[in-house]
Amino acid sequence: MSLASNAARRPLVVGNWKLHNTRAESQALAAGIAEKSAALPQVDLVVAPVFTALDVVSAALAGSEVRLSAQDVHWESRGAFTGEVSAPLLRDAGCTYCIVGHSERRQFFGDSDDHVRRKAVAVLAAAMTPIVCVGESLAQREAGHTEAHVLGQLLAALDGLTENQAAAVVIAYEPIWAIGTGRNASPADAQAVHVRIRGALAQRFGGSLAGSMRILYGGSVKPDNARALLSEPDVDGALVGGASLDLASFVAIAGAAV
Ligand code: PEP
Repeated sequence: MSLASNAARRPLVVGNWKLHNTRAESQALAAGIAEKSAALPQVDLVVAPVFTALDVVSAALAGSEVRLSAQDVHWESRGAFTGEVSAPLLRDAGCTYCIVGHSERRQFFGDSDDHVRRKAVAVLAAAMTPIVCVGESLAQREAGHTEAHVLGQLLAALDGLTENQAAAVVIAYEPIWAIGTGRNASPADAQAVHVRIRGALAQRFGGSLAGSMRILYGGSVKPDNARALLSEPDVDGALVGGASLDLASFVAIAGAAV
């Protein structure tokens, strides 16, 4: 099995702003990131604001290489689905990425593996990149079930995808016990799971494609731990929550990806 080296994968750093920031705050943060991104041409940068700020953030990013993401999506493109937003509408709002299967969606809003798969398919159909999140709970890790759980979520999310579709997918490994807790996975632990993920991708789609797919780490990534995590050969970037709300922190993490 031949896997492309990490030199073949451009680092990707995504800021997940979760349920934070007014439109004005989002616009200001995006403008700051757009300005700073000019000094980071080796890193792909993406921000995911709340739905109501997508338009102002899109405008603030115009002319920069920073891309816009949504935090979630519904799998149907239209219809009687009160409160939902579809992939074509997100594309229309300027998004080229969309997070799917974040553990907070799975935990608090009932997103199942099959929902995540349907969302990923909808995002791909709208010519956007799904960022598919997978990760184990602390109990699962302590019981030795990390690999089975993470690979189960991964293969369920990618079930039925063609190689062409898979080539457009980004995976984010986010151990639930590390999200928002200040407790990150050690670089070695993250690398070990990323290797398993890439191995499963290789079995499913072939080594060449798996070697080109980006696998992000997420879970309490901060400026002071980013470089060690991002130096691991199979850690291709970061999905950043809390630290992405601060311009200097987000830029420092992006700088650590180079
Ligand atoms: C996240 O929201 O995906 C995340 C990883 O959050 P934090 O960086 O705050 O742990």
